[in-house]
Amino acid sequence: MGTSYDLAVVGGGIVGLAVADAMLAARPGARVLVVEKEPRLAEHASGRNSGVLHAGFYYHPESAKARLTRRGNQLLHAFCAEEGVPLRETGKVVVTTGPEQLPALQELHRRGLENGVPLELVDPGRLARLEPLARTHEQALWSPTTASADPVAVVEALGRRVRELGGEVRLGTRVTGAGPGWLETAEGRVEVGHLVNAAGLYADRVARWFGVGEEYRLLPFKGLYWYAAPGSLPLRRHVYPVPDPRFPFLGVHLTVTAAGRVKAGPTAIPAPAREAYAGREGWVGSEVGEVARTLPRFLAGQRRAGPRLLAEELPKLSRRRLLAQARRLVPAAHEGLFHERGRPGIRAQLLDLRDNRLEMDFVVRPGPASTHVLNAVSPGWTTALAMAEELLPGILAGDPSH
Ligand SMILES: Cc1cc2nc3c(=O)[nH]c(=O)nc-3n(C[C@H](O)[C@H](O)[C@H](O)COP(=O)(O)OP(=O)(O)OC[C@H]3O[C@@H](n4cnc5c(N)ncnc54)[C@H](O)[C@@H]3O)c2cc1C
Repeated sequence: MGTSYDLAVVGGGIVGLAVADAMLAARPGARVLVVEKEPRLAEHASGRNSGVLHAGFYYHPESAKARLTRRGNQLLHAFCAEEGVPLRETGKVVVTTGPEQLPALQELHRRGLENGVPLELVDPGRLARLEPLARTHEQALWSPTTASADPVAVVEALGRRVRELGGEVRLGTRVTGAGPGWLETAEGRVEVGHLVNAAGLYADRVARWFGVGEEYRLLPFKGLYWYAAPGSLPLRRHVYPVPDPRFPFLGVHLTVTAAGRVKAGPTAIPAPAREAYAGREGWVGSEVGEVARTLPRFLAGQRRAGPRLLAEELPKLSRRRLLAQARRLVPAAHEGLFHERGRPGIRAQLLDLRDNRLEMDFVVRPGPASTHVLNAVSPGWTTALAMAEELLPGILAGDPSH
């Protein structure tokens, strides 16, 4: 590791690598460092997600998610083509389970059109031609630009490109402290022109070193997946439910991976700690304590929507109950087909302490000589290249608030 860099990024997930890539493309020869604590890339959310290139119709037109998803989808399509990462043009259908969901489905359609996303309301006959295995009530939504790619393959290709462009990607190295103009690892201190905090599940902690984001607490939510036996369920398209608008989660869905496997999930269950993926692995005492203090605030907020979410989500720890949800969308998704566990992921979800609500949008905050990417939850994998494109002018100007 050198001693001085124009740009240093904390976190080698898709967001951090996308920022490094954008900087090197705009300023060839810039000294760019990405510091990643894990020995491999894509060990956390960027490699543990549904691998869905979202289209951008869920989000309120004023939101950063709406602004960045359509563009991110286009940029990620182009990236996969350029770098030879396999991509599957699945498209996606959103289906209803009863007449009470039709107004919400129509609202998604309206939002999508407002966000400039290609989208169509279709009748059950058309749905049967698009995805014969899906069921709906009266109408469904068809999104032709939603797609799939292997999230690990995407992140590895991006890491390769950053290195080819002259960036330094330092694996197995934890950033232990940082402030305006510097960061520190076990190898010592380096000088940094601008620091980008893309530390995912630890972004709130890094931000606090700079006095940023004090109004938030991180509440990790775990997503579990199950795979159908290869070839046992001939699904062609992603099939999603109408989501509950009070939460930033999309509900249990069925997706087709880039390799053609069918995956059911994810759950949205509070995790005991930030990297507690399985059993007692990753249970860090201070994090368990923080979750124990934060969870009651979530449960008390949002007019008691939190307890309802828990009551719906906790049963999905059982494969049978999770697949029962999936079968409401695709009746052929029998529990007996799904025996292989997918790699679970944990969302770096923030709770806003001012009103005890889950933050629905991405949060990007400027700090002294730094930019902090907080709440990089779904669709943060789809939007990473667009987010980097948007952040770059501020980083180059030395003032990320621009
Ligand atoms: C279950 C699940 C399903 C999802 N599905 C989708 C989907 O289908 N489509 C989509 O677009 N998005 C999806 N997302 C969201 C998407 O995965 C995230 O928005 C995205 O991966 C965030 O990227 P990131 O780079 O911010 O975080 P991460 O990938 O978590 O990267 C942050 C990195 O920072 C490192 N780090 C942390 N602290 C330090 C430190 N002190 N020093 C050095 N390194 C550090 C970590 O090791 C980690 O590698 C999903 C997420 C989850 C959890």
